Amino acid sequence: MEQGQWRQARRLVREARHVVALTGAGISAESGVPTFRDAGGLWKSYRPEELATPEALARDPRTVLEWYAWRRSALADCRPNEGHRALARFFLRRGEAGLVTQNVDGLHTRAALEEAGEDPAEAALPLELHGAVGRDRCESCAARWPAEPLGETLPRCSACGGLRRPDVVLFGEMLDPDLLDRARRLAERADLCLVVGTSAVVYPAAALPLATREAGGLIVEVNVRRTALTEVAAAALRGEAGTVLPALLD
Ligand code: NAD
Ligand code: ZN
Repeated sequence: MEQGQWRQARRLVREARHVVALTGAGISAESGVPTFRDAGGLWKSYRPEELATPEALARDPRTVLEWYAWRRSALADCRPNEGHRALARFFLRRGEAGLVTQNVDGLHTRAALEEAGEDPAEAALPLELHGAVGRDRCESCAARWPAEPLGETLPRCSACGGLRRPDVVLFGEMLDPDLLDRARRLAERADLCLVVGTSAVVYPAAALPLATREAGGLIVEVNVRRTALTEVAAAALRGEAGTVLPALLD
């Protein structure tokens, strides 16, 4: 009952005291963000699960850094869509953080800054569980920088000489425990978890909506397809995030 789902979802959004939103690759689909699978040309012969690993970075840093440079250049033409914007406005209005993403494309951050205008964007800035390709970090110390084009020699940390690498979680790497902890606390406190554009089958994506539920809250799902969470969602809205989110949240 599509109409019943919408009525229920709207009521839950209206009545929620604390909201957490978890987003995945689906929210960036309408921005044209290429997935791993869309990798073109030269990169077609590489498997991301083998390329984006700590072992590959240790063995052949140049190739891994070049792959991320390619991903960054592919992102340069992408802009936040109406889904990112509606979420940014929603959290700015509420003045309370609650946005958690698995995406590394930085589009939530851009939407937050664009929607905030003069205001500080704090409440709309996402917790980026898997990092951001637009940032580098030092492999050995805590230093972070905006990503820069790759030069002739491997980029090094000016403080400690460690390798400068993308500030993303590679396959097989641990998530930042503090970040994960903050996300879990947001999920547990929330009476509503809005799950957008994620298949939500892998940890921790799957764990966060369930944490909300175990603490007595409810799930509203936005996705073009059914997922493993549809069954346990209090309402499931079928459609593209860029259309559904403004209609639900504005
Ligand atoms: P996923 O590919 O497993 O799932 C995407 C989900 O989005 C699917 O359920 C699909 O039905 C749905 N979807 C597709 N288009 C949609 C739309 N327009 N509106 C609403 N829903 C839509 O992605 P995931 O769950 O994020 O997990 C994949 C992993 O890959 C993550 O860990 C993520 O970090 C990484 N990844 C990130 C990006 C990015 O930064 N944009 C892109 C690809 C992969
Ligand atoms: Zn360093």
